[in-house]
Amino acid sequence: MPTGAALFIGCSDRNAHLITRRSMSRYKPAISWGNPLSFSSSLSRVPIMPICGITIISCRDFEALPLRRVGFVLRRYPEHGIRKFLSEVRPCLVIGDENPMREAERRKANAARDFSVPFWTIDADVIVPSKLLGKEHYAARTIRPKIHALLPRFLKPLANPSAKVAWKRPGNLVSMAPELSLLDSLAVDRSVGPVSSRIGGSEQGRKALHQFLKFRLKGYATNRNHPDRDGTSQLSPYLHFGHLGPHTIALAVRDAAAPAADRTAFLEELIVRKELAMNFVRFNPDYESFDSCQPWAYQTLRAHARDRRGHQYTEKQLEDAETHDPLWNAAQKQMVLSGWMHGYMRMYWAKKILEWSPSPEIAYEIAVRLNDRYELDGRDPNGYAGIAWAIAGKHDRAWGPERPVYGKIRYMSYASTSRKFNSKAYIERVAALERGRF
Ligand SMILES: Cc1cc2nc3c(=O)[nH]c(=O)nc-3n(C[C@H](O)[C@H](O)[C@H](O)COP(=O)(O)OP(=O)(O)OC[C@H]3O[C@@H](n4cnc5c(N)ncnc54)[C@H](O)[C@@H]3O)c2cc1C
Repeated sequence: MPTGAALFIGCSDRNAHLITRRSMSRYKPAISWGNPLSFSSSLSRVPIMPICGITIISCRDFEALPLRRVGFVLRRYPEHGIRKFLSEVRPCLVIGDENPMREAERRKANAARDFSVPFWTIDADVIVPSKLLGKEHYAARTIRPKIHALLPRFLKPLANPSAKVAWKRPGNLVSMAPELSLLDSLAVDRSVGPVSSRIGGSEQGRKALHQFLKFRLKGYATNRNHPDRDGTSQLSPYLHFGHLGPHTIALAVRDAAAPAADRTAFLEELIVRKELAMNFVRFNPDYESFDSCQPWAYQTLRAHARDRRGHQYTEKQLEDAETHDPLWNAAQKQMVLSGWMHGYMRMYWAKKILEWSPSPEIAYEIAVRLNDRYELDGRDPNGYAGIAWAIAGKHDRAWGPERPVYGKIRYMSYASTSRKFNSKAYIERVAALERGRF
């Protein structure tokens, strides 16, 4: 017989949102369940964020769970199977979060086959549920009015309800303490070292949000396009791992005492651009490859595929930041050393990979591989949409004059970017990072 508990699968702030969004007070006991192995990837730097998240829930959010009458269970191999866990706790309902990425979808579908109780999913990575947008949108200008029309329904302060009945943990239930030492035995490729500059977890995420609101939201509209300054929120890793939800950030920014132009510019990125990326991945099955591009972009890139390249680099040369371009090398190093690259530089970085690779297909593959390997926020819909925008004209339009290699794809050059911000100062910042001074 089911116990009557609702089981939440996932972790951290995302779980808190799931619990809240589904109005837990309607249900009786609730259990939150995490499996660190579900985050394992080929990278050693990446699991640091989710596991820190779990560890830090244990310090604060985790301590708050009993106050909300919610249990927390963490397992790994060989106790990690959801089927076994379900047979032990026999919930009346399973609730998970939505993730449009292929592998996450596949795992969810596989797991759901074993559920004999209803399985609900919640789109906690966006504010307006992406299903409501119905189809792949052409550009920000087509999705923006639809999102804005639905925002009043979804962008509201959330209550913090408790389950009506506290979950009683069965005496023999296996659960691990969420500790960093869990990382030691994970089978991950350790050739990409961890980064020490960012610590994961909801508490750290909230601190980062607080710092942004206090010091950088004012001026964001101008400063965000200056990689030589710390003008953006740098919240993308926390968003990627669900340590902070877009809802929490959007409400805090909406209600902050900062100029309207700065708040509007930020919410455009966090809501419209992020949800456009989610829409792309949800509705375009080719989101990881060049095949995702629009017909006009495909035609122009094919027409210029055989153009002579002024410079051509192998993936290894790119990875090692060994190009003739100091600005590009600095961007690559910022990503490798800190696990994060400034958004403006990401555009330049991907466009130059197009310019210096033997074909647009190869450029696309290299950009996805490097981005997913080194960025803490990599393997994210935002990354696939960003690369598709930069290399394959996704969500963009044709630009003139037509140029070698790029055709009608929007072009960026060292000279044009250097007119927009102090590229020498950015290069110097990254050099200081390399010397260990940041
Ligand atoms: C080639 C390329 C690769 C990218 N790879 C990634 C990636 O792997 N992961 C990732 O999260 N973002 C990626 N982006 C999008 C964007 O550059 C980053 O989200 C942003 O720079 C993160 O820094 P921030 O948190 O300081 O952003 P802020 O300027 O503070 O913006 C706040 C939030 O809004 C969202 N956002 C901002 N810009 C965009 C955008 N252009 N598209 C979608 N959402 C946006 C992000 O969630 C971001 O954290 C990529 C963009 C390009 C052009």
